[in-house]
Amino acid sequence: MIRLVLLGGPGSGKGTQADVLKKKYALVKLSTGDLLRQEIAKNSELGKQAKSFMNKGELVSDAIMIGILEHITADFEAKGQGYILDGFPRTVPQAEALLSMLGKQGVTLSTALLIDVPEEELVRRLSSRWTCVRCSATVGYPDGKPEGAVCAQCGGELYQREDDKRETILNRMSVYKKNTEPLIAYFREKKMLERVDGFGTFEEISGRILDLFAKKNIR
Ligand SMILES: [Zn+2]
Repeated sequence: MIRLVLLGGPGSGKGTQADVLKKKYALVKLSTGDLLRQEIAKNSELGKQAKSFMNKGELVSDAIMIGILEHITADFEAKGQGYILDGFPRTVPQAEALLSMLGKQGVTLSTALLIDVPEEELVRRLSSRWTCVRCSATVGYPDGKPEGAVCAQCGGELYQREDDKRETILNRMSVYKKNTEPLIAYFREKKMLERVDGFGTFEEISGRILDLFAKKNIR
């Protein structure tokens, strides 16, 4: 049974690779946002606590998040249903809480898989999007917008939205790095980290991931 944590920066293609793994190994993707919404809809004790944090505009505590995960994963263990954690853990204390929760269930992570893409490449990918001023169509220019390029749909002028600008992306990247670098170091120290080179086409990268899983007998 696969219990997977996926790590990778914004623009690493982590989401699409998660979908490949999900299909190949019949996994369930557990996104913390969806789990919280479900728990609140159920109006469970944990759901009520989570809601009171959110009403105050605060982040839901790690203890509540782990409590929710504990219920769901216990159910998955009983059914033999493997899973991918998406968006959790984001910090070292969350990773510690996760491993201790798994320990109580008598199991451990299959792996924490890092899709490793150099920062400069992530910035290049993320800042490649241009938007048409007239019809809002978008186009990607990973190698920079050619001079004089216009919208292919309507011939309108192209501009970069605030979110797509290099400066905004560099900011996002520094927030990501601040949280994730210690997390990567933590899993490496626990000998749970596997790294896949995130350079190349989508198919090349999923090929590397599936090879790694076969080699490590993760299934
Ligand atoms: Zn246009």
